[in-house]
Amino acid sequence: MSALARHLRELIAQEGPLTLERFMGLALGHPTMGYYITRDPFGVEGDFTTAPEISQMFGELIGLWAAETWVAMGAPPRIRLVELGPGRGTLMQDALRAASVVPAFAQAIDVHLVETSPVLAQAQKATLGRLAIPVTWHGGIETIPPGPAIVIANEFFDALPVRHYVNQAGAWRERLVGLDQGNRFTFGVSREAETSIKAQAPEGAVIEIGAVGQRIMSALAGRLVAQGGAALIIDYGYTQTSIGETLQALRGHRFVDPLDQPGEADLTTHVDFAALGRAARAAGAGVHGPITQGVLLTGLGILDRARALTRRADAAQEGQIEAALARLISAQAGIVVGGGVVDGMGQLFKAICVTAPGMATPAGFEHRQS
Ligand code: SAH
Repeated sequence: MSALARHLRELIAQEGPLTLERFMGLALGHPTMGYYITRDPFGVEGDFTTAPEISQMFGELIGLWAAETWVAMGAPPRIRLVELGPGRGTLMQDALRAASVVPAFAQAIDVHLVETSPVLAQAQKATLGRLAIPVTWHGGIETIPPGPAIVIANEFFDALPVRHYVNQAGAWRERLVGLDQGNRFTFGVSREAETSIKAQAPEGAVIEIGAVGQRIMSALAGRLVAQGGAALIIDYGYTQTSIGETLQALRGHRFVDPLDQPGEADLTTHVDFAALGRAARAAGAGVHGPITQGVLLTGLGILDRARALTRRADAAQEGQIEAALARLISAQAGIVVGGGVVDGMGQLFKAICVTAPGMATPAGFEHRQS
């Protein structure tokens, strides 16, 4: 049993069952034993992989998007380029390299990385530490200095804890994690009902609420409204708030029981883009999208970029570029890549762009606006 599992059992024995939000928050972010705090989870050896780790094209297109957005903002002399949950720093590295084709933008940037994991902050330092552009690390968005900002968040919101409410005998009760007779983690519900939820649903139905993510979105949107800028949020998720839950645990690229190995498995949920959009609009910001990742990357020119890379590639590299392209933009399940089978991210992943009010439609979002 992991040290964190032991700690959580003691906590439950002392204080009673934990809300799912607290359990998930500790499993992922306990200051010394949390999943993200103790490891680099990416890649073949790790638990999952992400778009910037699949291909340099992803970060490059986002870098060019940021430069274009900066120009659309009237090219302010200083711009905070912010990334939430930067992983290994790969996206930012590729973005800055691509954005250097707009030298005035490169000169206006200072980079701010919001990261809670010391292991990943170290990886980011190794990737980005030698750049001429100043890079500062933050534990949350509150400490980023004021001024116009361009914010990127890829697979950040899915890593934040959620609340579940279960419909039992006509009342919505919060899902808790307690211990069963055998001292194993088990789900239960709170005694008190949550009366603010009015949804009608069958007995046993579950509602998932990403309250932590909505709070971050609300603060971020408030900042963009007051100080200018735009945020590009990309993640797997859905476009309409609905009944049902999406909590999943991944370990070594396989699904495991979310309660089985706290701190050892990645716990995530699909992001409710409608709820994030509502939080941003309530703060006065403009919201563009959601659109699918396939539409976004195609709109930003990934086909041309793949063609340009292919021209300089040997046969093996050409195969890799094609496989990466398919994986990033295809809606197809079960694509064969390098001996393995993966699902295309083009449809499952969505993007929204949150802007200061009055800003023009951001690049890539021209065809669908809400
Ligand atoms: N964007 C990267 C990594 C995604 S994984 C990529 O696409 O590869 C999620 C990232 O968010 C990790 O860097 C993790 O350490 C970070 N993270 C998770 N919860 C966080 C929180 N509450 N605050 C800041 N960073 C967080």
